[in-house]
Amino acid sequence: MTKIYQWQMVELKKPFELIETEVSEMNPDEALVKVAGCGVCHTDISFWHDGVPTKHEMPLTLGHEIAGEVLKGPSELIGKKVIIPAVLPCGECELCRSGNGNICQNQKMPGNDFHGGFATHIVVPHKYLCIVPDSALERFPLEHLAVIADAVTTPYQVLKKSELKSGDFCICIGAGGVGIYGALLAKIMGAKVLSLDIDDTKLEIAKENGVDMTLNIKDMSVKDVKKKVREIAKELGVSRYMWRILEMSGTKPGQELGYALLTHASTLSIVGFTMAKSEVRLSNLMAFDSKVIGTWGCKPELYDEVMELIASGKLNIAPFVQTFPMSEINEVLKNTLEHKYLKRSVLIPDFDN
Ligand SMILES: [Zn+2]
Ligand SMILES: [Zn+2]
Repeated sequence: MTKIYQWQMVELKKPFELIETEVSEMNPDEALVKVAGCGVCHTDISFWHDGVPTKHEMPLTLGHEIAGEVLKGPSELIGKKVIIPAVLPCGECELCRSGNGNICQNQKMPGNDFHGGFATHIVVPHKYLCIVPDSALERFPLEHLAVIADAVTTPYQVLKKSELKSGDFCICIGAGGVGIYGALLAKIMGAKVLSLDIDDTKLEIAKENGVDMTLNIKDMSVKDVKKKVREIAKELGVSRYMWRILEMSGTKPGQELGYALLTHASTLSIVGFTMAKSEVRLSNLMAFDSKVIGTWGCKPELYDEVMELIASGKLNIAPFVQTFPMSEINEVLKNTLEHKYLKRSVLIPDFDN
């Protein structure tokens, strides 16, 4: 039996509590992973603070952006460093068989359907664990690679769906934890990228890391932003049409701006989440022959492609990640809630066991 520690959400908005428990029996389709690091996502904040219901009742260990090492499970996985995809499909249903595993209705999400990564260890279905090659570990410590499980793979999948081609103009709304990777991945795919945000520091980081242009849209009207974006497109020498717009701020103003920026043969991809509703003229889609697409997580099949971008040095993740001891979880969640961080936070287990 393995003794494990978990930081559990016991009540909405209340501090997480440390509990000690044991892993006794495991199913043949499961593996025991020693957590190296677990990223803090705004979805965790939604569960803990906004009352978005989790599938597993409280008390529940949150955390779905996990990297670690396999301690128990199939022999070929033991000792392997792995990323646990945030969405674990069943692999057998109609959606899975048709290549839509990311929206499998039997999917399991750590820290939602079962105890997640804010812990020393986690028991997970092993079918879709993504093995981390040594080449990636030579560039980044395993705990930093945790961000692959959500912040990097989610925009990767949407970029593949957005039909972005080399030379296209990609407008990224939001340059935060997910937005920055969306922008850099679009660059890798050959796009000219403009990042929009209301925070100068985030935009500076984007610029320093290769985004072509940035624009602080705080206090700008939608009309002024549209005008400025057209000027920037001209300056960058990209087409007036076929824009690939990624909404990654998860805000109503961000979504409304994304819609307003649609032009002929464009796509608007909704990556961020908000409960707020927007009123738009859907006929614009008809007039522009454009589309709005949604995306949910990332199918495990795409993880190896993302890993390859990181292992080959094409995608840098270090400047956008910061780590904290997991014992500081309550402070880190509070600061994340208050939008005090510019970088994605990864919690590293610091238990004496
Ligand atoms: Zn997430
Ligand atoms: Zn399925």
